[in-house]
Amino acid sequence: MRLLLVEDHPPLAEAVCDALRHAGFAVDHASTAAQALELSDLAEHALILLDLGLPDGDGLRLLPLLRRGGRVPVIVLTARDQLADRLAGLDGGADDYIVKPVEMPELLARARAVLRRPGNRSGTMLRLGPLALDPAARSATVDGTPLVLSRRELGVLEQLMRASGRVVSRQMLEEAVYALDDEVSPNALEAAISRLRRALEAAGCTVPIVNVRGVGWMLPRQDRP
Ligand code: CA
Repeated sequence: MRLLLVEDHPPLAEAVCDALRHAGFAVDHASTAAQALELSDLAEHALILLDLGLPDGDGLRLLPLLRRGGRVPVIVLTARDQLADRLAGLDGGADDYIVKPVEMPELLARARAVLRRPGNRSGTMLRLGPLALDPAARSATVDGTPLVLSRRELGVLEQLMRASGRVVSRQMLEEAVYALDDEVSPNALEAAISRLRRALEAAGCTVPIVNVRGVGWMLPRQDRP
């Protein structure tokens, strides 16, 4: 699951990126409105965290442009804590509002809550045979036993579970799992997939990751949900 952070204050942006990555999300970071529009064009994001005071524009004006008519959830981050601004943010279509200084545990909790809201498909629990994956909590289990996976391994598993029964291309997996400023070595995806395979086998998971040569990877559908 890939998120977009729009924040121009470098220390805060770095702290939020670190916290989100540590929690298992892939994060793209924009420090201007123009950059945010560019990034939202390049990748699909499950959630946008949006600062209101940007050097080249007002975040509230940017919000509908970033959504591009879709329904990506948006959490507004701002130092302006007056009631009027909060209401403007919510009226402007934000799903939640965080007043700076940002407390990271609060930010993570609110991000999970927004992702889990009914109607938000990207946050819905995924199940396939013995496998279950909670996209908002960034955790997965086999028959109820937690799997220990890296951010990338979990990201690969998430995309394969979302598409179970269909082949997922290399490009789609890379887009979902790597943020734009991640350094991606040529074999990084294969390495993550082979670690994921080993973790699934070690957990006694019978669902195989099938490689379709030259096309991509898939998890076959299971009789159980
Ligand atoms: Ca700002």
